[in-house]
Amino acid sequence: MSRMEEHPTVINYYMSRGGNYRAENVLSPSGKLDTTWLRDVCIEAGADDAGFVAIDRPSLSGDKDDILGYFPRTKSLVSFVCRMNREPIRSPARSVSNLEFHHIGDKVNEVARRIVSALEERGIRAVNPSMGFPMEMGNFPEKIWVVSHKTVAVAAGLGHMGIHRNVIHPKFGNFILLGTVLVDAELESYDNPIDYNPCLECKLCVAACPVGAIAPDGYFNFSACYTHNYREFMSGFTSWVEGIADSRDARDYLRKFSDSESASMWQSLSYGANYKAAYCMAVCPAGEDVIGPFLENRREYLDDVVKPLQKKEETVYVVPNSDAEAHAAKRFPHKTVKAVSNGLRPKSISGFLDGLKLTFQRDKSEGMDATYHFTFTGKESVQATVVIRNGTIEIRKELTGVPNLHITAESSAWLGFIRKEHGIIMPLLLKKIRLKGSIALLKAFGRCFPS
Ligand code: SF4
Repeated sequence: MSRMEEHPTVINYYMSRGGNYRAENVLSPSGKLDTTWLRDVCIEAGADDAGFVAIDRPSLSGDKDDILGYFPRTKSLVSFVCRMNREPIRSPARSVSNLEFHHIGDKVNEVARRIVSALEERGIRAVNPSMGFPMEMGNFPEKIWVVSHKTVAVAAGLGHMGIHRNVIHPKFGNFILLGTVLVDAELESYDNPIDYNPCLECKLCVAACPVGAIAPDGYFNFSACYTHNYREFMSGFTSWVEGIADSRDARDYLRKFSDSESASMWQSLSYGANYKAAYCMAVCPAGEDVIGPFLENRREYLDDVVKPLQKKEETVYVVPNSDAEAHAAKRFPHKTVKAVSNGLRPKSISGFLDGLKLTFQRDKSEGMDATYHFTFTGKESVQATVVIRNGTIEIRKELTGVPNLHITAESSAWLGFIRKEHGIIMPLLLKKIRLKGSIALLKAFGRCFPS
């Protein structure tokens, strides 16, 4: 066998080694990457705006370990946006709006890939996480994204989140999709968040959302948005599959699902998952390029942009006994309200605790003032306090205050109960779940988290 240094690849590598120092012309004497060059790379790659953040920025601290877990060499993050055309996003025809979402989503992924290629040509290592999907589904239903594009975009000065939780760019409004590139180089300079929020607090997103996911005071009902807008994504798809599995025959299936729903699911599987609404984005008038028609004639703007979405006759997906179900029935009686599971089933106690805020239905908690202590044993040994009071929920990963109900549970028994794999009677009889306090308080707790 020949010696490795005689291998053609190794010989060619050493002969062309100068090529490995091509980064020199874009690195300062201190070894930092030229940000003017990098910004040009982003724009030439197709981005409409870009900003840069160091991995040590405090606002990224919640994601830093995860990012480094995926790409340990990350020193800087490039955030960029690609503009979407506004009128297709506003169209009541969801096929039209989803075409724009998919097209620009693909463009963002291509831009990110081109940026990585340009860096790699200079010998600088970089990674481009996907704009949306595919994600790390092995972690589902917990954190499936490699990087939080919104957090990075805000840190990089590309906008702020409006009350609808989308990033609003100061010029392009919320008609953007976001991309991020992780870079193994320090940059000459970094950007900072812009010093105002482009959100006008006009509440048009509140008026347009068919499931009341955004409240006038800015409160966001994640479960409402996830259940309807993402019906043909992860959990909605799972819920549909379970509906098939639970059907006795084709007739039974057809009692549960219309032909339109089956065809729509096929379409999402064939052409990319479709958003059911995203009306909050469609109606948002924020941004210098966007605001004109809203300022010039608000009535006309409402008639042109908001009312067609409000008037649209469509199926709206809600969790039974949720705030969204009550909202949709009251505000949009001409829409068909269909009760479905949100499909969110925690696979760990930490996932259960982290998910409580996302599935909390504050209207269902009206009048409650209760402190719950949880002591989990077994595979996950965790203690936590949950306080539900004045329409708010607070979660602490320790026991504090005086509980109205103390729940001690084997973690697997509790997860089986929460995941609806079994009821609560048997674990109570077997003392795998024990209550100290009124069982009525457990029922009240359950009403706040319909699934
Ligand atoms: S629609 Fe109005 S309130 Fe909602 S995010 Fe846009 S600017 Fe803010």
